Amino acid sequence: MRAAVCYEFGKPLVIEEVSLDPPGKGEVRVKLAAVAICHSDIHSLKGEHGDLPLPAVPGHEAGGYVEEVGEGVSYLKPGDTVVASIIPEGCGRCYYCRIGLSNQCTTNELYLYGEGKYTNKKGQRLAQWAGAVAGFAEYAVIPEVNLVKVPPDLPMDRACLLACGVISGFGAVVNRARVVPNSSVAVVGCGGVGLNAIQGAVFSGAYPVVAVDVLDSKLERARLFGATHAVNAAKEKDPIAKVHEITGGRGADSVIVAVAGIEILRQAFLMSARDGTTVVVGHGHGEKLSAFNPTDFMGGRKLTGSAMGAVRLRLDVPRLIELYRTGRLKLDELVSGHYPFEEINQAIASSAAGEVIRNVIMF
Ligand SMILES: [Zn+2]
Ligand SMILES: [Zn+2]
Repeated sequence: MRAAVCYEFGKPLVIEEVSLDPPGKGEVRVKLAAVAICHSDIHSLKGEHGDLPLPAVPGHEAGGYVEEVGEGVSYLKPGDTVVASIIPEGCGRCYYCRIGLSNQCTTNELYLYGEGKYTNKKGQRLAQWAGAVAGFAEYAVIPEVNLVKVPPDLPMDRACLLACGVISGFGAVVNRARVVPNSSVAVVGCGGVGLNAIQGAVFSGAYPVVAVDVLDSKLERARLFGATHAVNAAKEKDPIAKVHEITGGRGADSVIVAVAGIEILRQAFLMSARDGTTVVVGHGHGEKLSAFNPTDFMGGRKLTGSAMGAVRLRLDVPRLIELYRTGRLKLDELVSGHYPFEEINQAIASSAAGEVIRNVIMF
């Protein structure tokens, strides 16, 4: 089997023959069908996610078929069609699971990188960056808890987006901001995740839904996903004032920040209403300090985070599939291009250039 291995940050991945450990207790061997290039993969490959171990197999927006199950696996069997997530299903027994926050489970924890299950021809062990997943390979051994079963007739190039790109945006609105009908939403950053935040806002009955970006092409696309207003933050003299103007002078009840950068975050926060909620979705690196003014919090503005849309894997993904099948969630429009595994570096370069929503590798 082959994997795409990162040996050096900022350099193309090396596609090479590797061996893969057999599935251990609670693990499943998955034959990958599709894996998308996510912007967090691009940040990691550039070395912008700190000291990730090398060499490593990246990739996490993956879907495929169960080939073999390890000891104790009960939810899945060979032949099942699955989508992977870096946030596992909750254990159902710990404190957080019992209070309904299975995304915060302390038994099945999210980890961002770890010891891998692959070995290269030189006998070197390869780390995995996307924790349990490692989707830039023909096969992966993944814990059962990081997988959700999906219907076999669902196209895998779309299905693989559900547990990361789609839920990160949609879940930030529905699960974290808990947007209610007639409230206003601004989405800052209209890439793949931002577009899904817009979809979540439309689904929740929000109005207005304001898209904020610096590229007119992205703002046009945002309108196709349901944004009712668009603000070009590069061209608008005062984008904060513009969002306040669109939202009846109050500011947006919910602001979803789907782009990295502390100064962008500060501006997005000031776009929120006095009791509004700003949800940080875009992380990334760079400047860590900004001139946040404590008095801006006085009205009761809230600033909060969202990891992967606070996904409850086996609850939210089936719901999203239902929405897709009934025409209430756009997935087809998220897929910009398909690439064979051999062209993964081209797919990554094209995603990094910024104009595409999602490029998907098809195995
Ligand atoms: Zn992702
Ligand atoms: Zn738990």
